[in-house]
Amino acid sequence: AVSKGFKAARNRLRGKAEITPEVVDEALRDIRVALLEADVEFGVVKRFIASVREKATGEVVDTKVESKKGAMKVSPADHFVKICHDELEALMGPVDTSLTFKAKGPTGIMMVGLQGSGKTTTAGKLANKLLAEGKKPLLVAADIYRPAAVEQLKVLGQRLGVPVYHDPNARPPQMCKAAFEQARAQHRDVVILDTAGRLAIDEDMMRELEEIKAGTEPDNILLVADAMIGQDAVKTAAEFDRRLSIDGFILTKLDGDARGGAALSIKEVTGKPIKFLGMGENLDKLEEFRPEGLAGRILGFGDIVGLMQDFEKVVDEQKAQEDAEKILSGNFTLQDFVDQIRVVKKMGSLSELLEKFPLFGDLPEGVNIDDKELGRIEAMVDSMTPDERKNPSLFNDSRLNRVAKGSGRTKKDVQELLTRYNGMRTVMKQIGGNAGGLLSRLPGF
Ligand code: GDP
Ligand code: MG
Repeated sequence: AVSKGFKAARNRLRGKAEITPEVVDEALRDIRVALLEADVEFGVVKRFIASVREKATGEVVDTKVESKKGAMKVSPADHFVKICHDELEALMGPVDTSLTFKAKGPTGIMMVGLQGSGKTTTAGKLANKLLAEGKKPLLVAADIYRPAAVEQLKVLGQRLGVPVYHDPNARPPQMCKAAFEQARAQHRDVVILDTAGRLAIDEDMMRELEEIKAGTEPDNILLVADAMIGQDAVKTAAEFDRRLSIDGFILTKLDGDARGGAALSIKEVTGKPIKFLGMGENLDKLEEFRPEGLAGRILGFGDIVGLMQDFEKVVDEQKAQEDAEKILSGNFTLQDFVDQIRVVKKMGSLSELLEKFPLFGDLPEGVNIDDKELGRIEAMVDSMTPDERKNPSLFNDSRLNRVAKGSGRTKKDVQELLTRYNGMRTVMKQIGGNAGGLLSRLPGF
């Protein structure tokens, strides 16, 4: 179950004119629970709480001064939300999703991690990504302990059209070394080593990995960690880093229920950056790490702070909340629809906006509206009378024709707009009415 800690914390602060240390402490208790439930390691939680406490208490003065000037209408509760979020982002940064490439000769990428963490899958995903960037990867099947591991990588290679190197007569360190020779001979410019893992940290495994590292001097050693194993991932990461000095890590299986707190812990404990996130079993489900999304996920809400910031850029906060409320209740007229289109146009596309909410899942066909279409819709709604905008059921043949003519569209276009508007209203009603759904997650509702 998704923690209510963050929301509870915010509710505690609602209506409070200023953030006193006592109020902060109460709110932080809720945050602590939320973080622990999201698998953030205890020590990391403690440091996080201490840091937010200091900042939140210090912010009281600022809020008052600004409200006196009338410059900003941010409530202490909003402020607290933002501080937590920013602090979490800061803990996960600095962002460095780059890979190191050799100027000359094949670049080495060594995948390490426990068995089942997703090394082989992620090796395939990386090969896919590199292909798209115009590179010529070579995959190396160096896990000789699991019978199916070599075959698994070969299947991935075949699907991608990427060669897979394997030598059944060689030990992994020799095989990896030979793979670089092969890469040079065949003009492959990136060598991805898929190594063997064990169920737990194991001395034989570590020695083998150290030997592979010494023999191939890979430019990137990436630790692959399963988000589902939560706090255990931290100890594992620390040990891998101690022995191999990793360059960064990849957190997999974030398409599941895991809230991703392990990422925060691994980053804090090793000091190494999060490079990518695994978002599914398919080869295209690899995302570059962005702290905003993960911070929201860990705290138990969508990318809501980012959304609020986008709104703040174009409309004042009060209006943004009213608008969001209206849209999500499904009670919006065609006029509201076009007003929203104007706002949305300034914010980026509607589909992008909706993507910020991981709760929604796949959107039904017809909800995605691109920017060009927004312009056409705007023209059609502008050609309607105020009555028609309020009450689309007024539309008959002659009205449809009039609007079509006025906007330079066809009658069919206008009919489609009305269908779409009705469909969107239904969808929004569902989203807004979803039990424990969006409205209850939006700061301020
Ligand atoms: P390895 O033992 O470290 O090489 O792990 P594998 O690459 O064989 O992955 C173990 C299992 O996790 C496989 O069933 C993969 O399909 C699955 N897997 C890997 N990455 C992801 C991911 O990002 N999301 C999901 N849902 N499954 C994943
Ligand atoms: Mg494997």
